[in-house]
This record gives sequence, C-alpha cells and structure tokens, in this order.
Amino acid sequence: MERTFIVGGNWKMNGDRKGIDEIIKFLRAGSIPANNEVYIGVPSIYLDYVQQRKPKNIEVAAQNCYKVEKGAFTGEISPDMLKDLGVKWVILGHSERRAIFGESDELIAEKTAHALEKGLKVILCVGETLNERESGKTNEVVFRQTKAVADKIKDWKNVVIAYEPVWAIGTGKTATPEQAQEVHDSLRKWIADNISKEVAESIRIQYGGSVTAANAKELAKQKDIDGFLVGGASLKPEFVDIINANAKKPEESKESKK
Ligand code: PEP
Repeated sequence: MERTFIVGGNWKMNGDRKGIDEIIKFLRAGSIPANNEVYIGVPSIYLDYVQQRKPKNIEVAAQNCYKVEKGAFTGEISPDMLKDLGVKWVILGHSERRAIFGESDELIAEKTAHALEKGLKVILCVGETLNERESGKTNEVVFRQTKAVADKIKDWKNVVIAYEPVWAIGTGKTATPEQAQEVHDSLRKWIADNISKEVAESIRIQYGGSVTAANAKELAKQKDIDGFLVGGASLKPEFVDIINANAKKPEESKESKK
C-alpha cells in the first residue's frame, strides 16, 4: 500500500508574529510536492494567526489539547476550540510533554481518544530515552506507549505515529536510517499482531529527532519511514527541503516504497 508522505513542523515554544511572517514567507516561496501532506505545529496563542495566513496546502496543528470538552481546566485548550479555529491536527504525547509536564501514557491515550472523537487528526509521539535504548528497552517502551492508546481507540485512520527517540530530539544526534527503520519495522509488526494487519499497512510512521535537510533524504529512503516530525529545522527555510526529501529523480523507480 502506498502511504502518503507526511512532514510536520513542531515550532515548540518559539516565535512571535514577526518570526511567523518570515516562516510563512519561505513556506509560500517553496514548492511542496502535490502528493505530500504538510502540517506545522504552532504555539496555541498563534494558531489563529497562522491559520489565517498559511498556504492552502499546509495544515496547522496544535501542540497539545485536553481530554474533555470544557470546564474548569485553567490553561488548557479543547479539541472543540481547535476545531472552532479550523485547526485539523494536534500533536499529542510529545516527549517534552511526557518528561517536563509529567504526562502519563494513560493521559495521552485519553487525550488521543477525545481528540479523535471530536474529529481531529492526531500525531501520536512515541520514543525511548537514551537510558532505555542502552538497556535494550526501545521496543518495550514504544510498544507500551502505543498499547496505551490501542486500549482506548478502535479507529486508527486519523492517527499518524511519530517515532521520536528522545536522545535524538534537539540534540543534533539523529538516529541512523537503519536504527530508525529497525524501530519503525518492529512497531509496524507489533501493530499487525496487536491491532490489525490493515492498520499496520496503512498507518503512517514519521521519524523525528534532529532531522535536517542534510540527513532527510537518506532517512526518507527507508521503507517504513513515511515522513518526518521536525523541530528546530522547521523554523528555517531548510524545512522546505525536508518537505521535499522524498522527491524522486525521474529515473528512480517507485519500488522502494510499499
Ligand atoms: C521535535 O520537537 O519533535 C523534534 C524532533 O525536534 P528536533 O527536530 O529539533 O530534534
């Protein structure tokens, strides 16, 4: 099955209106392959600003949302509020939310279930710390994080998984294409065994962790890497090159992707 290549930016807590105008400018100037999907993960206070100015072929994503409709949850935003602004995507379970804000697998699963119920599309981030990798627990962690969500949702069609090894996020240390492919492959197999073969074949798994224009092409060649979630480099014009990382030269065949 052909899976649509999907590249997302995660601006994290960066930017102001002036900086955003610059980003919109280079996104408008750059070409985006017609077959690729692109989203940008924007701080909540600027979601509307970006939604009003973004190019048509790029979607806006929130970086978080809460697990219920409304109420006494100071500081939180709901999927309904995102939909009210026309936002279609939300990034959930980013390692910074897990590590800094103490979000558990359970909470992330609840947020995912609620966001999907409300009609948002979810980028679900999973990934191991360096310590977990070095103690041979990469698969265990990634499977556990995915299972927490699998226990709460049935329909995966609006979910994209972002495999983001924590040790590669913002560190300049990228997983090698082989390291990333190995985890993507294991995760797809786990999904086939524990969710369904159909979901395993169709779900897109992005890689995230210090992706740059320099390393994106090699990563994009891996058969189970269906796109990227990009932090630091999504604030720079090289993001456009990353969006184009899967563009094939005319003489290349299509056989490298399922
Ligand atoms: C991220 O924030 O999801 C990320 C992958 O960051 P970076 O690309 O900066 O490592």
